[in-house]
Amino acid sequence: SSAQIGVVGMAVMGSNLARNFANHGYRTAIFNRTWAKTEAVLTAHPEAHFIASQTVEEFVDSLEKPRRIIIMVKAGAGTDATIDTLIPLLEPGDIVVDGGNAFFQDTRRREEKLRAHDLHFVGAGISGGETGALEGPSIMPGGSEHSYTYVGSMLEDISAKVPGPNGDEPCCTYIGTDGSGHFVKMVHNGIEYADMQFIGEAYDLLAGAGLSAAEAADVFAEWNTGDLDSFLIEITSEVLRQTDARTGKPLVDVIVDAAGMKGTGTWTVQESLTLGVPAASIAEAVFARAASSSPELRKAARSALEGPDGTVTVEDRAAFVEDVRQALWCAKVIAYAQGLHLIKVAAVEYGWDIDVAACARIWRAGCIIRAKLLDRISNEYAANDLETLLEAPSIKAMLAEANPSWRRVVARATEAGVPIPGFSSALSYYDLVRAERTNAALTQGLRDFFGSHTYRRIDTEGTFHTVWSGDRSEVEAVDTH
Ligand code: NDP
Repeated sequence: SSAQIGVVGMAVMGSNLARNFANHGYRTAIFNRTWAKTEAVLTAHPEAHFIASQTVEEFVDSLEKPRRIIIMVKAGAGTDATIDTLIPLLEPGDIVVDGGNAFFQDTRRREEKLRAHDLHFVGAGISGGETGALEGPSIMPGGSEHSYTYVGSMLEDISAKVPGPNGDEPCCTYIGTDGSGHFVKMVHNGIEYADMQFIGEAYDLLAGAGLSAAEAADVFAEWNTGDLDSFLIEITSEVLRQTDARTGKPLVDVIVDAAGMKGTGTWTVQESLTLGVPAASIAEAVFARAASSSPELRKAARSALEGPDGTVTVEDRAAFVEDVRQALWCAKVIAYAQGLHLIKVAAVEYGWDIDVAACARIWRAGCIIRAKLLDRISNEYAANDLETLLEAPSIKAMLAEANPSWRRVVARATEAGVPIPGFSSALSYYDLVRAERTNAALTQGLRDFFGSHTYRRIDTEGTFHTVWSGDRSEVEAVDTH
């Protein structure tokens, strides 16, 4: 009989996703450009009873109509090439889902292209790596609502689940039209970058205060039992506890301190710049990775620059560790606030009707940033109309309580020479957005001085200019900006 779902791309992600569908009882068709990969999957997983095809024509013929196809190939040219081979073989009403890490503007373009052929295109952000793909990822699908009625329940079936009062809640929900799903996935990754940077800074501070890697592992394990409970904190403890077999040292001490990246963090920052959304803590995380991977810069600066060596003198170690925990929680909240604000602004810009509470809800399991905090965030967005996460009743209260700790940590780190671009930018964001008045008044004065860019007054309507080069009187001006 014909297959209910077809998966294109039999590399690690696609094959695991196909097995996930099969495990949920779906008759699953598989196809890969290179047959050898399909053959290997068939041999390794006879239990899945895959319907395999050597040609894309056979593959398309093996699917029941309207056809549902998920593409899991190399993002970019691979996705476009796959789409181009499929289009002439498909019929109006068929649904193509791209589960790869596509840039959301590519998804918008592809959705438009397929729509012109009366085909549905769903850009689904999928997070959770290869384990998630097999056991239940977090899925962020964007496309027409009509297409979601055809593929939504299948995607929800294979997604991660969170136990709820009315049974298991799937970590998959309709996000919005065209590129919205991939946009939300992109922001998820941006938050993931920030989360990891903050964790690194917390570890630096603990190490600076004299904790060994194993002691820090214990601290992170302890933190994982409270408000910081999350996948990343949990695996931090595991990585810090790992001993290198060759040297007997902590593994973390023998890993080269140069972090790689594949681009989704950079996309998030680029998009925050394009939309004018302050997301400095996410940006700092991307820049920190860039700095780590700039050996020439670091070599030159290391030999040129003086300063304290990162040793943090603490009188009360337990109190300091608690301060760092609070600072880490605060910084994490700021990254979420920046990322979710970016989603909110993008939704207006691109015409998406995105439920921010739902985004937080489907990040609670399956994905890399899964965390206990997301329960609170999701509930707060569901219960309140929030401009920013930071005004949520329980969030603002916890930030207020943690404020002294957060400030102490930033001050101590600064004095000790521990680089904390994440913690400090997060605190600056907190102070910037809550400020009664900002230094932008002076900036605008300067802009008026050198460029006649004009300013508005706090006490009168209108646009004004001071005649800086003349008698310095004020005149009403035509707003040039
Ligand atoms: P890869 O990104 O390594 O891509 C390999 C697959 O793409 C192979 O099936 C390959 O076919 C196919 N492919 C490449 N170029 C073309 C082309 N021009 N035409 C047709 N097929 C092509 O596979 P992964 O499994 O690692 O990732 C798949 C997708 O999932 C990617 O978009 C990736 O970004 C995303 N991903 C998501 C992760 C997550 O956590 N959500 C983690 C990892 C990846 P062939 O065998 O013939 O070469």
